[in-house]
Formats: sequence, structure tokens, C-alpha cells
Amino acid sequence: MEKPEVRSWEGGIVSYPSVVVQVRSVDDIVSILKNSEKYPSPVRAVGSNHSTTRCGTAENGTVVNMTKMNQIIAVGPDTVTAGGGALYIDVSQELLKHDLQFYVNVEIGNMSMGSAACGGTKDASMPGEFGQVCSYATKIKLVTPSGELLEVTEDDPELLQIMRSSYGLLGIIYEVTFKVKPLRPMAVEHKTYSLDEFETQLPSLIAREESLMYYLFPHQSVITVEFRKYHDASGPPNRTVWKMRNLVWKKIAPGFGYLVWKFVPTNPLRTLLIDGFYRLIQFLMTLLLKSSHTIPQDQTIRYPDKSNWTRYTFSIWAFPEETFTKVLRAYFEFCQDYYRKHGYRTNVGNVGYRIMRDTSSLFSYSFTGNVMTADPVSTRNPGWEQFLEAYNEFCSRHNGVPLFNQSDRFTREQTVKAFGNRIQKFQDYRRRFDPTNRLLNDFFRELLD
Ligand SMILES: Cc1cc2nc3c(=O)[nH]c(=O)nc-3n(C[C@H](O)[C@H](O)[C@H](O)COP(=O)(O)OP(=O)(O)OC[C@H]3O[C@@H](n4cnc5c(N)ncnc54)[C@H](O)[C@@H]3O)c2cc1C
Repeated sequence: MEKPEVRSWEGGIVSYPSVVVQVRSVDDIVSILKNSEKYPSPVRAVGSNHSTTRCGTAENGTVVNMTKMNQIIAVGPDTVTAGGGALYIDVSQELLKHDLQFYVNVEIGNMSMGSAACGGTKDASMPGEFGQVCSYATKIKLVTPSGELLEVTEDDPELLQIMRSSYGLLGIIYEVTFKVKPLRPMAVEHKTYSLDEFETQLPSLIAREESLMYYLFPHQSVITVEFRKYHDASGPPNRTVWKMRNLVWKKIAPGFGYLVWKFVPTNPLRTLLIDGFYRLIQFLMTLLLKSSHTIPQDQTIRYPDKSNWTRYTFSIWAFPEETFTKVLRAYFEFCQDYYRKHGYRTNVGNVGYRIMRDTSSLFSYSFTGNVMTADPVSTRNPGWEQFLEAYNEFCSRHNGVPLFNQSDRFTREQTVKAFGNRIQKFQDYRRRFDPTNRLLNDFFRELLD
């Protein structure tokens, strides 16, 4: 019998499981995990399949689609509980009705709550807060590899720390509770810096005590920084600022990059067009994307269920904050050199985030200190995969840390360098939970075993 083909949302990750099954209840998950004849290993839960790596693939195994387990179960004064397949944006919008908000308001709305609780995520840390969604998961309910029910809470901090980095390897999450907080007005503004200016001014930008997200333009040696802060504001909020940002991020920028690479035949002309486009974008961001009163929820984007020609992909590594300006200069040189030697450059503006030190999850990329990231973005224009391999080498050489669900193509050696003995600790738990490797796919076997 022909095997079903499963593609990631963006289309670049293709796999062939034996079975794909949509679950609607905890009992469905239990029956799957208990019946390895009908549902062969590896068993991998997936939400919206937005990951840019093979973390959720199950070659010859079973893919468990969680998206119908999407109930919002309870909203309390400082928590929200939802099914593992509920979308982050739906829960976030429900919180808005209660004058509440998530701590971390990522741009990706399609992320499932199950994946949010046990996988890597990033958003610029608001002052005094974490930038990883899972750090606010306080109760995780799952079905273990042998089909038993388990609840992990803050009463067992070590197990919770492991669960928040478990990527479905210790069990399938069917319900999760996140800590939330009262809704607050958020100010936003953008400023553009040359690389030299950014290098000298970074300490004072950090001292502003605002979140720092940034757009990187390696071929122009320019950085546009997005500053955000909570503060008290009255009157009606501005609801167009994030709409404009989201339209450019979701459609216009990737769509333009795609069209330029498809229809413009030569690299010099493509470069002229893409650099001109981003000069205009830098100007407009500084001019238009500012307000003293926006709503945090408005940052989150709902992408179409099935991607279209404006889809994009990206990768990410995080670097120690203390060395970041050196790394950034080297990253810009690396991109320029790579273009000179191989004729390849990414066709969408790169991004990055400043994220606070965070030991809430075992594979946290900011486990040992504050980090800043440098993330290439593209529409998978020809040459992207080879570029990523060189990028991974560059990042590992500069003591970067990758994310298992968002940094494509990194190697076992690079994993060991980034996470050291945390791998052994995870493996000890994993082997205890899953002695028969019911949930272990080739991707994690290669990187962790
Ligand atoms: C266009 C685009 C924009 C993005 N923007 C951002 C962003 O701004 N910030 C950010 O942090 N990320 C971003 N991402 C990455 C994305 O958030 C993560 O990859 C996230 O994991 C996707 O959620 P998902 O539900 O699609 O997970 P999936 O890709 O379906 O799964 C991810 C991992 O979690 C496991 N898993 C999923 N559900 C469960 C469950 N119920 N129980 C146990 N394990 C489970 C899977 O097996 C897999 O290992 C973006 C991705 C794309 C394509």
C-alpha cells in the first residue's frame, strides 16, 4: 500500500509515515500508543507542522495529528488551560476577552499549545520576563509511551524542566496550563542603525529596559531595532500598527523575495531590487510602526492552514549576549563572503531577538546567560540548504546554540558542543520513560543517542 506523504507547512520537510491518524480524545491517544501493530513506531505527535526541522517526522511510523484536540478548557485569573492541539492565536484571543494576555506573544499564531509546552520558541524578552513560551507552562498532562496518563506540575520542578524540552519524546501532551497575566498596553517603535552604530550603542540600547527584536540586513550592514515596553496608557489602542507589520512579514516581504528570484534572471539585478525594497521598508518601519498604545495580542499572525506562494522558512541560533556584536559583524561578513563565493543570498530580511537567561527548560538556548540571535530567512530560494550547512558551521564555531524544531540541518557534533552534558540527562529520562523507543524518530536518534 502506498504510504501517505506528510509535508511541513512550508513544504520543505517531506516524510512518509505508514499511518496518519487524527485524534479527538485522550482515549484515542492511549489506544494508539498501546497498539504497536496497528500503529507502528516511531509515533510522533504533530500540531500545525510549522517546524522547520524533521523533529515531527515518523518515517514508516505513525503521525498523530492533534489539531482536533483544540478546546479552550478554562481561563482562570492567572492561568489558561487548553487542549494540546489548540492554536496559540485562538487561546490568545480568548485571553483578550478576559483582559488577560500570554507573557510571550510570539508572531506565529498557528503554533499548537502542545508544541508550545514542549518545544523551542522565541520572542524578544520583555523586561524581567522570559522569551520562551514553555517557561510559562505550569501543568502538562500527557500520555506516556506505554499508554499511561501522567500529570507534571511545578511540584516536580526537575521533571517539568525536562518536559518543557521533550518534543514529544516522553509522551503526547493532551492538555496544558500556562501562566498568564493582566492585559497591559504596549508601546512600540523602530530605529535603524549602521553596524558601527549598533556595535557602540548596544549597551545603551539594553539599558533602555525594553524588549529588543531586530531586522538584520547583512548585505547593507544595517540593523532596524524594534523596541517594546509595557506602560500605562489610556484611550483607545492603535490596532493598525501590528496589522501593517504583519502584512509585510506574512505576505509582502516573502512574496516580493519569491517574485524577484523567480522572474529576475541575474543576481546583480536581484540585489538591486531586494536592497532597494528593504531600504524602503527600513524607512517605513521607522516612520509608521510606532505607537504608545498597542495590544500585545495583535502581534500574533494567523497563517493560512495550507501555505501558498508567499510562504517562507528560516533558521535560528542563539549567541551569548557579551559576544554578540562581534558575532554579528562576523555574520554580516560571512553572508557577504558566501554571496561572493557561491552567488547565494537569502531573499527575505533576516531577523533576531534578545532573550533573557532561562533555565526553565533543559534544552533552553539561553540556559547559561542572556542571548541574542541571528536568523536567516528565505523562501527556500535555490541554494538555501547548502547555505544553511555553512551557516550552522559558522554558528557552532561562534558558540551558538540551535533549537531542535527551528534550526535545520545541524549535526550531532554541533548538538554536543551546544548542550554538553544536558544531553545525557535528557537521555536518562527518555530511556526511563521510553525503553522501547516507541516515540524516538531518526532525527532525534541521530542527534541525541
Ligand atoms: C512561518 C513561520 C513563522 C514562525 N514564527 C515563529 C515565531 O515567531 N516564534 C517561534 O518561536 N517560532 C516560530 N516558528 C516556529 C514554530 O513556532 C515552531 O516550530 C512550533 O514548534 C510550531 O508549532 P506546531 O504546532 O506547528 O509544531 P509541530 O511542528 O507540529 O511540532 C513541533 C514538535 O513538537 C512535537 N509536538 C507537537 N505537538 C505535540 C503534542 N501535543 N505532544 C507532544 N509533542 C508534540 C512534535 O513531535 C515536534 O517534535 C515559525 C514557523 C513558521 C513556519
